[in-house]
Amino acid sequence: MISVRGLRKRYAAVDAVAGIDLEVRRGEIFAFLGPNGAGKTTTVEILEGFRTRTEGDVRVLGADPAHAGSEWRNRVGCVLQESSAEPGLTVRECLQLYAGYYARPRDIDDTVALVGLEAKADSLAEQLSGGQRRRLDVALALIGDPELVFLDEPTTGFDPSARRAAWEVIDGLRALGKTVFLTTHYMDEAENLSDRIAVISNGTIVAEGTPQTLGGRERMAARISFALPDGVEPPVPAKHVNGRVVIDSEQPLQDMKAIADWAIARGLDLADLDVRRPSLEDVYLQLTGGAA
Ligand code: ATP
Repeated sequence: MISVRGLRKRYAAVDAVAGIDLEVRRGEIFAFLGPNGAGKTTTVEILEGFRTRTEGDVRVLGADPAHAGSEWRNRVGCVLQESSAEPGLTVRECLQLYAGYYARPRDIDDTVALVGLEAKADSLAEQLSGGQRRRLDVALALIGDPELVFLDEPTTGFDPSARRAAWEVIDGLRALGKTVFLTTHYMDEAENLSDRIAVISNGTIVAEGTPQTLGGRERMAARISFALPDGVEPPVPAKHVNGRVVIDSEQPLQDMKAIADWAIARGLDLADLDVRRPSLEDVYLQLTGGAA
């Protein structure tokens, strides 16, 4: 669906995108992550045909977005990072207006329901809250029934339950056979939704993989932690962090067995025992040079 080779975008002295390769397959949800200013929006807008590139080969649905026509645009839906309401139009009227631009639009009421805006269908778009406005943006991106949907930070400003509802909508796009290119700053969003992730930092792709394997996550040490009474030392090498024993373990099963045998022999119940793999956020922060 998307194939990018050697993409570069230079603004005056800055290489905002410094020669990246990307491949997105039909039917997958692809998450594009990176810190502020990393080059995400620049890349997405080049893929959408809204920005020119300095160098590189870009194919989206088999065409070069810089020269693609209206037939191509009908097959692509976009939720941009910023949007503005249509003055004087209700939610339903906005969707009717946009539906008119497409050859085979989706049903208006179905689309309103898909993003959970039924209660606001007859309210003016300019009077929606920030999160409701974002849902309308998603609805407008879907109204043309596109094959490929770009979602640039689609849930920024959503309350937790609206985010969960939006995830269901995005996950539902997978069931409809759509391909989704998602940028987000929420690691839980990427983890819950995406089939594959690419991380961009300073204009360069620094890692690519599934949420489980990104940056070698599946091979990283597990962290075992628990509290012990004063003066008791654990049976394996450990650090003490905020009053807890912390063991970064390459072999968690063996270490857990040693700890369990030792604790049982001493009658310690280790009630607050916790074993966890590094989170996607831990991996992301390592990859992008943030503090972990
Ligand atoms: P965010 O997470 O904050 O949305 P981003 O990854 O989307 O960030 P971009 O908007 O692609 O980042 O910006 C990448 C770099 O290019 C930044 O350093 C930015 O200042 C610069 N940049 C973006 N647009 C322009 C422009 N029109 N002219 C000059 N520089 C720009």
